[in-house]
Amino acid sequence: MSDVTIVGGGIIGVCTGIALLGEGLSVELVDRGILTAGASYGNCGLLAVGEVVPISKPGILSKIPKWLLDPESPLFVRPRGILTQMPWLLRFLWSGRRGRVLEIADALASLTRRAEDDYQQLFEKTGIINNLVRAQNIMAFNSKADYEDDQFSWNLRQRLGFKHQFLSKEELLSLEPALGGPIKCGVLLEEWFQFSDPGLVQQRLTQFFVAQGGQIRTGSVERIEAHGNKAVAIHLGNGEKIPVQRLALCAGAWSRKLARDLSVRVPLAALQGYHHHVPNPGVKLNRPILYANGGFVLTPMESGLRIAGTIEIAGIDPHPDYRRANIIARKATQVLPGLDISGGKQWMGPRPFMPDTLPVIDRAPHHDNVVFAFGHGQIGMTLGPTTAKIASDLLIGRSPELDLSPYRVTRF
Ligand SMILES: Cc1cc2nc3c(=O)[nH]c(=O)nc-3n(C[C@H](O)[C@H](O)[C@H](O)COP(=O)(O)OP(=O)(O)OC[C@H]3O[C@@H](n4cnc5c(N)ncnc54)[C@H](O)[C@@H]3O)c2cc1C
Repeated sequence: MSDVTIVGGGIIGVCTGIALLGEGLSVELVDRGILTAGASYGNCGLLAVGEVVPISKPGILSKIPKWLLDPESPLFVRPRGILTQMPWLLRFLWSGRRGRVLEIADALASLTRRAEDDYQQLFEKTGIINNLVRAQNIMAFNSKADYEDDQFSWNLRQRLGFKHQFLSKEELLSLEPALGGPIKCGVLLEEWFQFSDPGLVQQRLTQFFVAQGGQIRTGSVERIEAHGNKAVAIHLGNGEKIPVQRLALCAGAWSRKLARDLSVRVPLAALQGYHHHVPNPGVKLNRPILYANGGFVLTPMESGLRIAGTIEIAGIDPHPDYRRANIIARKATQVLPGLDISGGKQWMGPRPFMPDTLPVIDRAPHHDNVVFAFGHGQIGMTLGPTTAKIASDLLIGRSPELDLSPYRVTRF
């Protein structure tokens, strides 16, 4: 039996596995099919250190009618989703109070500030430092008024130390000549960098994990068995029972169901995102472009250009509605004239989202050999090694450097 069993081999699980191997423990990662299933494969690939302002914030209520009625809006709720996700939606809106948003942003910043250093260390150790690309991101807008519309968020980021620089159309085009169409200005997001390709990063980290002696088991965890204050085994879909000594639950958006086996009800939603990934785009971007008016990101990657984003509230494992990917691909051709979207591969995957946008990084409340690390929302790729350090501290019984109270599983 391994010292630690990790459920979920996305970026959080694999980074936690590597951290624990570094502590001299034996580790087994259990995943039902690591490399394309989760959000860690299909995301926008940004090291989004300044993405600390939650989506639910002052002013959100006035935007909701448009989101509900317009299937092309960046956030879409499927009609069935409105009913099934209502308790989550109410908590989400309640978290958007001004005072609460300031606390949330502060707690997110405490994590994201560490992300660049943590990745630097991890990528040096794993020999893949080229996978961190120091190309500062740009957010592009259709008008200066659209930029000014969200001064609340810009001021908050600035106050927390995440700087940005306004770019006129000329300045923007001198950095990114391929942009065009409706785009009129932009903002340089200082110190937001990118990954060369998130799926490949996850694959390379997984290879390192195995090379260092980590075990991988392919299987779907159907249930966690517990006795008294200990988790004792996990049960797989094929009937296998695997005894566990210590357990880390890192199953992304799917963690909610398994946490219930440990008597924890956690308000975790799956906010689906889509991508359209073009191997030969025919145009060149020098850095990621976050297109604010379209709600998607264009990221140049090792394997082509990724157009990704949009939020769809539709439950945990819905049928993909690839019209969402088609919409962002079509809009991308408007802002990148000359972009060839043919031959694009499409994907849907869930952001694991707590109503307050903060992750859960905590000991299980009733089982002292279990640690939870999930719910990283839109910045889980950014936080892989940072969360991993904390989770491994908790698993080996060391006090983490950070006050973990904002990330408690029982906070709702
Ligand atoms: C479109 C989109 C764009 C994004 N862009 C960014 C970005 O630019 N930057 C950023 O920082 N973040 C981004 N994110 C968020 C980020 O991708 C996620 O927060 C992060 O990948 C979550 O990682 P994870 O390891 O918790 O979950 P996942 O990557 O989802 O991994 C969970 C794993 O658990 C496994 N699993 C689940 N249930 C079981 C079970 N019962 N048995 C066995 N295995 C199981 C799954 O197979 C999966 O491999 C984006 C997300 C989306 C959807």
